[in-house]
Amino acid sequence: MSPVAYKIALLPGDGIGPEVLEAAVTVLDAVSKHFRIGLRYERHDAGAELYRRTGESISPRTMEAIESAHAVLFGAAGLPDVRKPDGTEITPQIDIRERFGLFASLRPCRLFPGVPTRVKAEAVNMLVIRETTEGLFAGRHDPIELSDESVSDRLTITRATSERLFALAFEQARSRRQSEGTPGHVTLLDKSNVLRSNAFMRKVFDEVAQRYPDVTSDHLYIDAASMMLVTEPERFDVVVTENVFGDITSEIAAGVVGGLGIAPSGDISLEHGVFQPSHGTAPSIAGQNKANPVATILSAAMLLDWLSYRHSDKECRNAAAAIRSAVEAVLREGPRTPDIGGTSSTGEVTSAIVHSLEATV
Ligand code: ATP
Repeated sequence: MSPVAYKIALLPGDGIGPEVLEAAVTVLDAVSKHFRIGLRYERHDAGAELYRRTGESISPRTMEAIESAHAVLFGAAGLPDVRKPDGTEITPQIDIRERFGLFASLRPCRLFPGVPTRVKAEAVNMLVIRETTEGLFAGRHDPIELSDESVSDRLTITRATSERLFALAFEQARSRRQSEGTPGHVTLLDKSNVLRSNAFMRKVFDEVAQRYPDVTSDHLYIDAASMMLVTEPERFDVVVTENVFGDITSEIAAGVVGGLGIAPSGDISLEHGVFQPSHGTAPSIAGQNKANPVATILSAAMLLDWLSYRHSDKECRNAAAAIRSAVEAVLREGPRTPDIGGTSSTGEVTSAIVHSLEATV
């Protein structure tokens, strides 16, 4: 048994969130039994349905539970028809990022054999790192006069957050090179030819790059990079950028490797980690047992990696690797959900991943 029983806060959320979250918990249960990892779950409501019932999208009690948890697994939150008075959607995931200073969202995008893709590419294996507390989201609490004539949002880049973000990107490039044989290269995406904030971001990036002489780096303008992500996705290793550019870039990268259904993510600070699929609540397929659970299951593997890193627990790292191998086997051989060319249900794919795990560990 691992030395501690890890407390995992589960936030199912809205739409397909609860279905994909339960699929990931099923896989976590199977893997934790094999690797003798103690996991203690606590379920909490957050999101649009909660807002509809109570007027708040996440309660102070849930924030406390996140504070004291070893890690958080989140489904997805928000529904297009539930909006705040200013017209924006319910986004407790952003409240959590701000409250716990989760400054980086890690979004790995890999090409898996067996997953159909529209873009013809080989060996795509990139990690998009999106800054998540400032950039173009920084001013979202600014007092604002809503008018029909004009309105503005603020873009802020700080040295402190940028230095931490870029150091993380270079560290990730190093550790990926060691564990996955990737080139050890970081690309900054910006619009520094027009935006002064982005010119500053590039200057800080170049300063941080000097501390990592063994990792190569370059910069691209976000518009050129958006095309290259589609035309030459193999060229990218670690990609780092501000909040909104990262939001868009990670969805392009996910689209290149087969769609949101297989794209995991983890929002981290030095102390807290919240793991969730890159996708949203996909209300049009909610409750139909056809959501792809792979993105959330891979997010659960990232959660185990995080526990391994934070608590020097090798079993968690082995368990994460076992989940990834099982997912890879099922994506290669099926069953698959409809979003990636199959006809199987969420439940069938989840069971196949559990069987594959049990056959190999
Ligand atoms: P958000 O703004 O909350 O990120 P979104 O507008 O990007 O949400 P999603 O909910 O992510 O929208 O869905 C986008 C598309 O991808 C939809 O067509 C949805 O059906 C599909 N999709 C997303 N996640 C999955 C999944 N896990 N399985 C199958 N299809 C999915």
